[in-house]
Amino acid sequence: MAQPHPHVFLGDKLVPAAQATVGIATSAVLYGLSVYTVFPVRVADGARSAFRLADHFRRLEESCKIIGIDRFTQEWDYARFQATVVDLVEANDPAEDVFVRVSVHVVESIPGTRVRGCAIEVSMFVYDAVPIVPQDGMRLKSSPWRRIPDNAIPSRAKVNGAYVNSVLAKQDAIDSGYDDCIFLDANGHVCELSAANIFLVRGGTLITPDVSCDILDGINRRTVLTLAREEGIPVQERTVDLTELYIADEVFVTGTSAGAAPVFEVDGRTVGAGVVGPVTTTLRKRHADALRGDTDHGWTTPLT
Ligand code: PMP
Repeated sequence: MAQPHPHVFLGDKLVPAAQATVGIATSAVLYGLSVYTVFPVRVADGARSAFRLADHFRRLEESCKIIGIDRFTQEWDYARFQATVVDLVEANDPAEDVFVRVSVHVVESIPGTRVRGCAIEVSMFVYDAVPIVPQDGMRLKSSPWRRIPDNAIPSRAKVNGAYVNSVLAKQDAIDSGYDDCIFLDANGHVCELSAANIFLVRGGTLITPDVSCDILDGINRRTVLTLAREEGIPVQERTVDLTELYIADEVFVTGTSAGAAPVFEVDGRTVGAGVVGPVTTTLRKRHADALRGDTDHGWTTPLT
């Protein structure tokens, strides 16, 4: 991740990035007990806008609810969230597009592992919007590490500690010369990448694991599904076998930090013709337009 821009939000105010620290005896540090989201802010012609800000807030609330971080909804509502994002971005005055990472940390230092009623602190920082995977055809490796199931640490909740699972799988993929991993569940069904959702196209149908397949319910995943349906592309949300990726015509991934990016190779097999396919091309363009606010879905929020 790129460095935070100079002004960050912590607790209840903006502070210089170097002063924004969370204590070593907090549950956030000891157990990875924080939840987060990351959303893009577009900077163009002197105006700034956030993509699907209300959906990011709702998912953050849902992550808190799943984990039992109950103080978040007591202390924060959407109006406060949006106002804080506006102040943060304004203070940093970015010249180009940025990502904003918002975390809810459990900061109480208590003996043992529990969560309900514990004090929280919210942090927010801005960083350069640099994609985390190649945008011109990536190579993926199915991982020997299994995706954490919903009844262990739910992938539906964006819990910091759970990202150790992603680190193990992504590092294995990099060590093996690939760009990223494909997580499978205990039964061998496809889940997602380390920090992106996955789609395949076969015979003109767009297919992606459904939300009960131990995935994050990605906001760009939802966006692409909406856009595909509008384009009249048949869509299936269902369990996906790894071998379906091997024989797919097209594979691509979505995520805030991944964009909508094509996959050219899975486990040493070339996907389709090894080029960006027609469905991927269409949906990439529609997705880029949506990020720019060139749709009538009301997905962008002016940050003023
Ligand atoms: N899956 C995981 C595990 C992720 O970390 C991310 C990135 N937030 C995604 C999928 C994509 O989600 P989104 O489209 O909301 O960025």
